[in-house]
Amino acid sequence: MIVNVSEIKDGGLSLNLTRGPGWLGGSEKSEVASVGSDIEFHIDLLRTAGEVSVRGKVGFLAVARCSRCLSDVNVRTNLEIKLLLSPSEAEKKMESGGDMDYETYRGRTIDLNDYMREQVNLSLPYKAICAEDCRGLCGGCGRNLNEQQCGCEARQEDSRFAVLKDIKI
Ligand SMILES: [Zn+2]
Ligand SMILES: [Zn+2]
Repeated sequence: MIVNVSEIKDGGLSLNLTRGPGWLGGSEKSEVASVGSDIEFHIDLLRTAGEVSVRGKVGFLAVARCSRCLSDVNVRTNLEIKLLLSPSEAEKKMESGGDMDYETYRGRTIDLNDYMREQVNLSLPYKAICAEDCRGLCGGCGRNLNEQQCGCEARQEDSRFAVLKDIKI
C-alpha cells in the first residue's frame, strides 16, 4: 500500500486492494477479536496543493468472542477513512480539524500500511455479544444456555424466593 505521489493525477487515484488477515502481522490489540476474513480497501487519493487527501472504505469480518457465552461472533466491519497527508518538510499543521486525521509523508511516496493497520486494529470490537438475548453460560454447570437448558436455573429461582421470604415488610 505504497503510493508514489506522482501517480496521483489530476483526477485522483483509486485503489482497490485486498489484504489477507496476515497483513496485520499479529499486531491485533484486541483480546476478544481478530480479523477473520480478507480486508478490502477502496481508497481514493486526491492531490490538493501539496497535500494528499485519502478517503475511502475498509471492509472486513471481525471474529469476536461473545462476552456472555464465549462463542464466536462474526462482526461485519466497515470503516470510513478520512485522512489528510502533508509533506513532512512542510510546516506542521497544528489545528486538528473535525473528523479528519492528519499525517505526514516523507519524500515522494506515501506508505499507508501503518495507518491502515492502526485503523483496522482500532475498529476491532473489545466487547461483543452474539445476540441481545444471549443467555450466556450457566453459572452453576457452565453449560451454554442458548443451546441447552440445564436444571440449575430452577434451583436458583428457589433460593431467590427463599431470600424474599426472609424480608419482613
Ligand atoms: Zn452469546
Ligand atoms: Zn446449569
